[in-house]
Amino acid sequence: MIPSIPCEFCGQPPSRALFEVDGYRIVECRSCGVVYVANPPGIGELKEEYDAFHGGRVPNDKPVYIDRRASKIKGARRRMKWLEQWIAPPGRFLDVGCAAGFCLDVARKRGWEVHGVEISEVAARYAREEFGLENVRCAPIESVEYPAGHFDLITIWACIEHMTHPAAALEKAVGWLRPGGILGINTCNRYSLGPRVKGRRWRLMTPPSHLFFFSRAFFERRLPALGLDIVGYGTGNFVFEGWPWRTKKIRRMVERLQLGDVMSFAVRKKPVEDGGE
Ligand SMILES: [Zn+2]
Repeated sequence: MIPSIPCEFCGQPPSRALFEVDGYRIVECRSCGVVYVANPPGIGELKEEYDAFHGGRVPNDKPVYIDRRASKIKGARRRMKWLEQWIAPPGRFLDVGCAAGFCLDVARKRGWEVHGVEISEVAARYAREEFGLENVRCAPIESVEYPAGHFDLITIWACIEHMTHPAAALEKAVGWLRPGGILGINTCNRYSLGPRVKGRRWRLMTPPSHLFFFSRAFFERRLPALGLDIVGYGTGNFVFEGWPWRTKKIRRMVERLQLGDVMSFAVRKKPVEDGGE
């Protein structure tokens, strides 16, 4: 048996094996509560996966990402409106995992100077050619650098669960954020109702695309430890797949009762303290 990698966030060996999905072993770190894939694929294999996801055919016949442009743009407007409760344009905005650039295009129209990082060449090319987004870099976050405190707003949206090294990436992003700036994180919530009931058959339990699964409590500990104050929280999307969640009424109910299996955090980087001369 291939040995499990230690927990990315606390360095401990996994304390519990949960189940296996398509040959990927899903384990839990009991000391921090993160659930993750114990035998992740290499970065080359992941790049192929994301190129296929964004441009090519995907298994189970779901529409490919770029074909869902209209709904992605709608979601991007909701995301920006939500985050702009805490920080208004103009300013410098970085979308980590910007995919085909839908959100960057929306943000630019709202007055932001936009920058993106994207691992998939297919998606990054689309962002550049379709929207003229010159500031999209095609690379894993590990090999990208920006000056410290460069951005007013950063999002890691539906992205951290895909990363091979999310702990380091999160720290990197926080470093690029200016004091007082806002970071938006959106990811699936492994401890919401849907996954608790469905286990390995949860719609988002999809290794090797998803490699990490978080809880609300995890971020409530981790984000303050990185010098961030949580200013906003919300959940959305599905309770169970197949529910008529798309109707406005159901969506509002799911949001109000915080039943959705996807959660969003808005956090503010603590302003620099006065030197106290
Ligand atoms: Zn851990």
